[in-house]
Amino acid sequence: MADLKLTNVDKTYGGNVNVLKDINLEIETGELIVFVGPSGCGKSTLLRMIAGLERITGGVLEIDGIEVNDVPPAQRGIAMVFQSYALYPHMTVRENMQFALKIAKKPQAEIDAAVDKAAKTLQLDDYLDRLPKALSGGQRQRVAIGRSIVRDPKVYLFDEPLSNLDAALRVATRIEIARLKEAMPDSTMIYVTHDQVEAMTLASRIVVLANKGIAQVGTPLELYETPENEFVAQFIGSPAMNLLPGKITGTGAQTTVALDNGGTAVTSIATTDADMGKQVNVGVRPEDFEPTDGSYIFKDTVDIVEALGEVTLAYFEREGEDHIIAKLQGIHHELRGKELALTADPSKVHMFHDGQSMR
Ligand code: ADP
Ligand code: MG
Repeated sequence: MADLKLTNVDKTYGGNVNVLKDINLEIETGELIVFVGPSGCGKSTLLRMIAGLERITGGVLEIDGIEVNDVPPAQRGIAMVFQSYALYPHMTVRENMQFALKIAKKPQAEIDAAVDKAAKTLQLDDYLDRLPKALSGGQRQRVAIGRSIVRDPKVYLFDEPLSNLDAALRVATRIEIARLKEAMPDSTMIYVTHDQVEAMTLASRIVVLANKGIAQVGTPLELYETPENEFVAQFIGSPAMNLLPGKITGTGAQTTVALDNGGTAVTSIATTDADMGKQVNVGVRPEDFEPTDGSYIFKDTVDIVEALGEVTLAYFEREGEDHIIAKLQGIHHELRGKELALTADPSKVHMFHDGQSMR
């Protein structure tokens, strides 16, 4: 059982390189939290501070209500599972898994019980006498995780454990980790990745890190449906949400925006008279665009078509701006070079002012 609480946590390297500022976060026992964000945003740093491998330069980290800022890693009840699954090649699966407990001079009966239990959780019971070379990549990864499980940690930390694997193995191992979490409902896991698909599929809650801080915390669905700012809106979802600049021309229970490109957007986000004339960015996910003969949010000639099978991506090139992308059901090679008008249901139309959602 372990609750974690971070209060105003800061990290400055070498006295002057500030990489994380005022991190406030509470993690409850049994959660699978994913830290996601672009490379260099401080994900590993935050994880290593929780593990005790990196000093916390400001704020307080508590585990189960007790400050652990100065508690050494080994005494925090935390296990870090690293990217590489460096197993001892001359040792069997059982010997690899019991190694730490042997070093700690635990009684053999206790060691055997711990290894057997972990092997069952990881579905390795039939492989305990094998050497690592006789295992698949995924099984080796499980043995590496098993070495942590036998120590019965309160919190598991994973730092991009799948990034060295090829695409197929990555999906398979991702599913393994989801299954592992289900087999250990009371353990708390924190998982770091730069891959928003991993974050969306694994997390009970996602923490999006950017610009030294937390951009948003929420369930995968919350981040997808109600991003609080443009960064999260464009980081979660692929291809990224389209942003179209414009000005509010109608307020009330629904809001109308006259877009700079000539289109008109209606959103179910409510506004007041005071919002009239505000400069905003309207956000529409590629999958929420639909072709229309009537009033449109966006209309232009399709430059490139990518037919992926179940869906087609239609690209509109914009000088000096990001492409506008529509994701349409089915195969539509015929759209290339044609004019296409697009709209979206008002409930799917996002709106941002100064980068923040107006919802
Ligand atoms: P991420 O894991 O999100 O890619 P990191 O936590 O590894 O990011 O790094 C965050 C920032 O801190 C980066 O700008 C990186 O260069 C810097 N950094 C990481 N470790 C050190 C260090 N030991 N000394 C100085 N700067 C560091
Ligand atoms: Mg990292």
